Amino acid sequence: MNKKAIDIKTYDFDAIVVGSGMSGGYAAKEFCEKGYKTLVLDRGKPIEHGNYETEFKAPWQMEFRGKMHRDEIKEKYAIQKKGHGVSDYTKHHFINDKENPYVQEKPYLWTRSSKVGGKSVIWGRQSYRWNKMDFEANKKDGHGIDWPIRYDDLAPWYDHVEPFIGISGSYENLDELPDGKFLPALPLNVVERKVKAAIEAKFPGRKMIPARVAHLTEAHPVHLALGRGQCQSRSECARGCSWGGYYSSVSGSLPAAKRTGNMTLTANAQVQEVIYDSKTGKASGVRYVDTVTGESTTVTARIVFMCASTLGSLQILMNSTSDTYPNGIGNTSGVLGHYMMDHIGGSGARGTVPGHLDSYYKGRSPGGIYIPRFKNIKEQQGGYLRGFGYQGGARRAIWRPNTVGIGKSFKEENRKPGNWRFSLWSFGEVLPHFNNRVSLHATGKDQWGMPLLVTSIEYGKNEEKMKKDMMDSAVEMLKAAGLQNVKGINRATPPGRSIHEMGGACMGIDPNTSYLNKWNQSHEVANLFVTDGAAFSSVSCVNPSITFMALTARAVDYADKQLKAGLI
Ligand SMILES: Cc1cc2nc3c(=O)[nH]c(=O)nc-3n(C[C@H](O)[C@H](O)[C@H](O)COP(=O)(O)OP(=O)(O)OC[C@H]3O[C@@H](n4cnc5c(N)ncnc54)[C@H](O)[C@@H]3O)c2cc1C
Repeated sequence: MNKKAIDIKTYDFDAIVVGSGMSGGYAAKEFCEKGYKTLVLDRGKPIEHGNYETEFKAPWQMEFRGKMHRDEIKEKYAIQKKGHGVSDYTKHHFINDKENPYVQEKPYLWTRSSKVGGKSVIWGRQSYRWNKMDFEANKKDGHGIDWPIRYDDLAPWYDHVEPFIGISGSYENLDELPDGKFLPALPLNVVERKVKAAIEAKFPGRKMIPARVAHLTEAHPVHLALGRGQCQSRSECARGCSWGGYYSSVSGSLPAAKRTGNMTLTANAQVQEVIYDSKTGKASGVRYVDTVTGESTTVTARIVFMCASTLGSLQILMNSTSDTYPNGIGNTSGVLGHYMMDHIGGSGARGTVPGHLDSYYKGRSPGGIYIPRFKNIKEQQGGYLRGFGYQGGARRAIWRPNTVGIGKSFKEENRKPGNWRFSLWSFGEVLPHFNNRVSLHATGKDQWGMPLLVTSIEYGKNEEKMKKDMMDSAVEMLKAAGLQNVKGINRATPPGRSIHEMGGACMGIDPNTSYLNKWNQSHEVANLFVTDGAAFSSVSCVNPSITFMALTARAVDYADKQLKAGLI
C-alpha cells in the first residue's frame, strides 16, 4: 500500500532538524528511531548513496587528469581552494564561493558543502574522543566559558555513537586520548612502526598510535543492515564510497532515519530563520527558501534542532529576530556569535627514511598515525596554554615528476616505488576569546535574501607560540628518529583553514554569559537546541566531528524525555 506523502506546509512535525550533515544526520536518526515524525531541511542539493559521480574515474577520464583548471578555481572556488579538500574529483561537493558570498572583516576561510550530507561526505574521518582535561581547560586557565559538562557526562554517548559509525582504533589506555569502542585498528606500515619505536624510546611520554578513523575494518550487523561493507583501502574516500566503507550521514545516519518511515528530507531548502512565538515562549518552526524556485515556506514542529554547521546555524539564529529577541532568538545575553574558534594548523615537518626499499604496504591505508597531545599536561611548557596533536604517516613516493626521460623508460621508472617519506601535521587548540566573533551584515544579502555573514576572527600570541612549537617538536622527533632531509613547516594559515569551526552559541551554566545549557538547549527558548560545533565552549586539539555526534545523540535523548514529560 502506498503511504500518502506528507504535505510539509500543513503537517505539524514532532521535530525539525536543520542540516543533514554530521550532526543533523545523527539528530534525524535518533529522533526517527524514537518514533518522532522528523522534517530534515538542508540547503544542499540531493545526493544518492552509491551514486557518486567521480568515484570510479581514473585520471585519464578527467578533463585535466585530475588537476583543476585555474579559471575554474578563480571563478568558483577562489576561497575554498586555499584550504584542503577541493579537487577535480570532489569540487561538486563544495559550494560555489562566488554565488555564496560572505564578508571577511578579518581573513576567514569558510569551507561549505553543496549537498545533503554536508561535509560528512568529504571529511578526513579522523575520530578522537576528548579527554577530561579538555572539558576543564576553560575553568583552569580562565579563558572562555566553563563547560557545564565534563568528560564523564559525554563518555556514554561516545559509547553510543562509535559502534554505529564504526571507528577503527587501537586500545592504548592513555589519559590524554581516551579509548573508545573500536573496530580493529588499521595496521601501521613498516616505516611507521620503526619511527614509532624510535620516538617512543627517545621521548618518554610521547606515543605514536594508529590513526583512529571512521572506517569499517570489520563490518558488523549494524553496518551490514544499512548496506555498508568493509573498507577496501582504496583511499579515494572524499569522492564518496558506494561500499559505505567510511562513515558519512549519507551512508549511515540518514538511511537509518529513512528506514523508520519517520523522516521527511527536503533538499534545496535554505533555512533563514527560526520562528519565535511570543504567546508560548517557544519556537513554532522555521522559515526556509527553496533555492530552486525562490519560494518561501514556513514549517512547524514541537522542537527545533539546529545542525546547519557552526557558522550556518549562527547565521540563522542571528537572523531569527522578533520583538522579544531583536538581536537573534534566545540572545538576551548578547553572547551569540562570540567565542569563535577553529584549530590552528599548517605546521609540522617531513623527511625521508633511508632503506626499507624491499617493503611496501597493502592497499592505500586511509589512516596513518596519530601522536596524542604531550605538551602542557602535567607541567606548563613552551610559554603557551593548551596543546596539540599530530597526524601523518609514511608513504613511498610513487610519482617523481623530476625523472628524466620520455616514453617507455620514463613510464617504467615512474612505476617503481620511490623512497619512503614521513610527514607530521598538527592541529592545535585555539583559545576562546570573546572578541572573535561573527555577525550579520547590515545590508548585504545573498541571492535568496539571507543576510551575509561577517567574520571577525583572528589568532593571538598563544596560537603563534604554539604553532612554532608544533613545527619545532615535529622536527625534533623526526631527526631523533633518524630521518634525513628533515624540513620544518610553519605556514601562515587563517582561521577556518582547519575546517573545524566551533563556538558562537557556547554551552555554559550562566544564561548571562552563555547561549546554551548543559543539554545543548537554549537557556531561553526551551524547544530550541543547537548541537553542531556552535555549541562548543572550547575546542580541544582533536578533530571534532565524533564529539558533535555524541553531543547530538545526548541532546536528543534529553529532548525525548522532556517532550514525554510535557516539559517542552
Ligand atoms: C576536507 C575535509 C576534511 C575534514 N576532516 C575531518 C576529520 O578528519 N575529522 C573530523 O572530525 N572532521 C573533519 N572535517 C570537518 C567535518 O567535516 C565537520 O566537522 C563536520 O562535517 C561538521 O558537521 P556539521 O553537522 O556541523 O556540518 P556539516 O557536516 O557541514 O553539515 C551542515 C549541513 O547544513 C546545511 N546547511 C547549511 N546552512 C543551511 C541553511 N541555512 N539551511 C539549511 N541547511 C543548511 C549544509 O548544506 C550541510 O548539509 C573535515 C572537513 C573537510 C571539508
